[in-house]
Amino acid sequence: MELNIDLHSHSGASGGVGEISLRQVFQTMGFKGIDIYGTGDCLYPEWLETLEKNFQEQNGILTSEEYPKKGLVLQTEVIFTMPYPQKPTRRKAWHNVLLFPHFKAAKQTINLLDEFGVKNTIGRPFLTVNNIKELENFLFTLKEINQQIEVIPAHIFTPQGVFGSKNPINSLKDVYGTFTKYINAVETGLSADPKALMMIPELDHLSFISSSDAHCGRLDRLGREYSTLEVKELSYPAIINALKTGSMVQTYEFPMTEGRYFLTGHRERNNHPGWCCFSPQHTPPTRICPLCGKKLTIGVLQRVLDLAQTQKAGNRNWGENYGPRKRKFKKIVPLSEVIANSLNIKTTNSKSVINLYKKTIERTNTEANLWKLTNKNIQRELEDIVPPQTIKSIKEVNKGNFSFSPPGYDGTYGSLQIGKTINFWNIKKIKKDPTQSQQEPLLS
Ligand SMILES: [Zn+2]
Ligand SMILES: [Zn+2]
Repeated sequence: MELNIDLHSHSGASGGVGEISLRQVFQTMGFKGIDIYGTGDCLYPEWLETLEKNFQEQNGILTSEEYPKKGLVLQTEVIFTMPYPQKPTRRKAWHNVLLFPHFKAAKQTINLLDEFGVKNTIGRPFLTVNNIKELENFLFTLKEINQQIEVIPAHIFTPQGVFGSKNPINSLKDVYGTFTKYINAVETGLSADPKALMMIPELDHLSFISSSDAHCGRLDRLGREYSTLEVKELSYPAIINALKTGSMVQTYEFPMTEGRYFLTGHRERNNHPGWCCFSPQHTPPTRICPLCGKKLTIGVLQRVLDLAQTQKAGNRNWGENYGPRKRKFKKIVPLSEVIANSLNIKTTNSKSVINLYKKTIERTNTEANLWKLTNKNIQRELEDIVPPQTIKSIKEVNKGNFSFSPPGYDGTYGSLQIGKTINFWNIKKIKKDPTQSQQEPLLS
């Protein structure tokens, strides 16, 4: 059977939003067509208690009578930090998704965090180690607690990811050491997609998964990226086995260009004289900002090409499938965003957007189903209930005719343009703001 999974989320304990409503989470899972969702923050004792109170665990899936046919998997994100292998006076910090087969394993891991001196007071714990041996010790102890505890490097190419541009490393082995062989999957993250990850030889034999990293149950957050797996049965071991063996049907991905760290640049902010962003071929060779003279924030696209070169990828072509795994994926944007865009409304949770969203879902049953239809069928299903301009936008997104222009860079999201694509390999934008020119720009 096919399962739509989204295995990376956060509860209110990770900041961003306050209390998370489980009712809203399950309602949104129903609309979006997400079968299995990560609980987020399951090593945070209060949240774990709430989960234990509200769900039964069967074969590693948390279910409740109130929400049949949908389930949760115990999941958290943990930040690891160790001295940066290339320069030990600095520290490398990166995010990881951890999955657990049952409550007992999660509780034993809470005790392990305590043994490692982790102050477990926020939803996303921070594990500090002094060297690679200590991290290996932690990770192998996890496997001793339960072989089925899964460690997945999260959003690997963002600055907070293992391959991020902040204190860059050359290989997973630089930080995971001998534990590297127990890594079965990596998360693409919002700023990268399988095309980017296929440039990196070390990832050829790993599964790529996509997840939302949502901090709330909103329609434009939960399931904004997700993965479809082929499993023999609905159970935690079956999901882990699919990750191990690469039994992936498809991932659904944000376009990389929307991600906040896609291109290299500096965003507009106080005391910065304007903004700039660059495709790799236009990035100044010094990687210094032509406006402020400081180091540019290196974008994911540049970082991918840099790492490909370090790992001697040879002449890999962007978009070609390398290695034994077939990497099928589709670019999407949340339907509520597409509807809002077609109506020229800024907020995706406004009443008129939600109404139209629900009308659409009445016909297709779930949002995931909508993105599997042909444009001809979309037209046929929706033409009597959805305005023509919205149908047109949905069809354009369905065939991939959309882009984010300008793309994201230095912490700013790209902005959605439906009906046109851009060549993100050929961007060079430098916008000087004359009112902020206290600093002399170093134009080259
Ligand atoms: Zn993260
Ligand atoms: Zn600058």
